[in-house]
Amino acid sequence: MESALTARDRVGVQDFVLLENHTSEAAFIENLRKRFKENLIYTYIGSVLVSVNPYKDLEIYTKNHMERYRGVNFYEVSPHVYAVSDNSYRSMRTERRDQCILISGESGAGKTEASKKILQYYAVTCPASDQVETVKDRLLQSNPVLEAFGNAKTLRNDNSSRFGKYMDIQFDFKGAPVGGHILNYLLEKSRVVHQNHGERNFHIFYQLIEGGEEDLLRRLGLERNPQQYQYLVKGNCPKVSSINDRSDWKVVRKALSVIGFSEDEVEVRTCLLPHSDVTSATELLGVDGLVLKEALTHKTIIAKGEELKSPLNLEQASSARDALSKAVYGRTFTWLVNKINVSLAYKDETYKNASVIGLLDIYGFEVFQHNSFEQFCINYCNEKLQQLFIELTLKSEQDEYEAEGITWEPVQYFNNKIICDLVEEKFKGIISILDEECLRPGDASDITFLEKLENTVGGHAHLTTHKLADGKTRKVMGREEFRLLHYAGEVNYNVNGVLSCTHSLCVVHPQVMCMSDNKILTQCFDRAELKDSKRPETAATQFKTSLAKLMEILMSKEPSYVRCIKPNDAKQAGRFDDVLIRHQVKYLGLMENLRVRRAGFAYRRHYETFLQRYKSLCPETWPSWQGKLADGVSTLVKHLGYKPEEYKLGRSKIFIRFPKTLFATEDALETR
Ligand code: ADP
Ligand code: MG
Repeated sequence: MESALTARDRVGVQDFVLLENHTSEAAFIENLRKRFKENLIYTYIGSVLVSVNPYKDLEIYTKNHMERYRGVNFYEVSPHVYAVSDNSYRSMRTERRDQCILISGESGAGKTEASKKILQYYAVTCPASDQVETVKDRLLQSNPVLEAFGNAKTLRNDNSSRFGKYMDIQFDFKGAPVGGHILNYLLEKSRVVHQNHGERNFHIFYQLIEGGEEDLLRRLGLERNPQQYQYLVKGNCPKVSSINDRSDWKVVRKALSVIGFSEDEVEVRTCLLPHSDVTSATELLGVDGLVLKEALTHKTIIAKGEELKSPLNLEQASSARDALSKAVYGRTFTWLVNKINVSLAYKDETYKNASVIGLLDIYGFEVFQHNSFEQFCINYCNEKLQQLFIELTLKSEQDEYEAEGITWEPVQYFNNKIICDLVEEKFKGIISILDEECLRPGDASDITFLEKLENTVGGHAHLTTHKLADGKTRKVMGREEFRLLHYAGEVNYNVNGVLSCTHSLCVVHPQVMCMSDNKILTQCFDRAELKDSKRPETAATQFKTSLAKLMEILMSKEPSYVRCIKPNDAKQAGRFDDVLIRHQVKYLGLMENLRVRRAGFAYRRHYETFLQRYKSLCPETWPSWQGKLADGVSTLVKHLGYKPEEYKLGRSKIFIRFPKTLFATEDALETR
């Protein structure tokens, strides 16, 4: 049999806290590589799960595997997303505390797959009743629907989620899943009207055109040819080899009926394919042709209580049309999520007794060549999540030390609150300044926003613009850029278009769309919001508010973490790209995570578990120890020759400072 030592050489350690050199990034990546080569895609940092996308189907998600992870001790089986799922579930059941699992990583790293695996694990392993079957089905079926309308083929991922998602799964007192609720964030609406080369619009459009029934297409006046539609051809990529639009259409149709959409609603919902001519558009949108035409070709300004209309040129009219399409798609997506929520809602009045596991599948830190308002929001979100993570990890470490009666040694760490404040502070935060420019009448522009930024927070340690204090300019940065120094590194943001992007410039659209006789659109564009005369909220402020709510939700729960890593940019199995992975280790804050986790002791176990595993190494504890567990462990480790500085005994656990101490004990077990 292979000794423990050589096995460690070959497959690395299954928990990074056991790395000899835990501060070395090279050692960290080497351990990931070793395991990846052996198809061991999961590794822990304490209780955090690190996952590397294998880009191939591994035989590790069978029902047998699910059974193997059910109810067992987290550390006694190899790392797995099922272990995290099971651990959260059991904490929820035994401690009666709501849980959340936070999944992060860049596009294509495997976040959505991980969240689906977690959901499947609960669907298969949790107790059920007849009534529960429908809820399970609906929970599972909400995925294909949301993916059809919210996912698209991008260069990074053939099935990329273009929105962030937080999903609550509710369990009753017996531990059966009985309901759910979804919150969605930042749908990438610009994709509706424009796609980069090699990318597509949202899946649903191609599914409808490829798979839609003949008479449905006829009623909608559609042709079975994506090349026919301006909004579908920008990326020049209507077909994707890994995607079968026709069969996906069937899956989505079925899912919609499982969730409880009426045939009528399915039809109305799917007819939103943007048309090029106004006549069919008005028919489908259910608004008066003249009114729509007027709205798309004229600009209405309300000045001193009077309406002034001025004609738009071709370019302006096109962008008005695009803005309308984006608004319609965005709002119907929200409508769709609401509809799913109604169907998932737990109807029992004992609802208050439900416990919850939340799943957060949200975009990771993004740095591109060109970063716009969208990246700014995404990275701000990651900054907030990092802050939450550090606070909660440090706090739970500290709590454990206290509970065990072991002296806490303070850990140095980078507190990114300073960056969060820079973005979100009242009056002088970036979002406040942006709001002010957005809502200021007159000559406000992207550049005046940048100038205001320079004047207000120009001297901030985490912000730079091209201007230097002495009035000279920096060559490395464009005139339209500002740079933020995030916890994960520097990012240049381009302000071009930021004002129009964040301003809810749709005074005219809601007015027109409210008149629609399309059943769904009237629900999407609410008349009431027109009357609301208070200062309109910009997209940036709306996002800030929804993030603050999300943080509140997460704070009230006990968190677990899954950190996903993409091994290469080619979507290929077996390829481990060092440079790419090193970036992600940095953006995910994994070294910092390990440092905090390793600050005091590398390893800790309950006395019972420890004694059970190693009792055979000491005549006094073998075959069983009769006295107090703590005394048994103390006897055992003294017999093994542990030095006092190598370990500490807490109230219920032994803490071991260095991995090598534990390895020696493991080796003794192997060679006994
Ligand atoms: P993300 O949501 O992080 O952008 P996805 O979860 O959509 O990424 O994963 C992208 C692709 O990678 C999937 O479509 C799938 O082909 C592959 N993949 C991800 N995770 C796994 C896994 N655990 N096993 C096999 N393939 C995976
Ligand atoms: Mg995804």
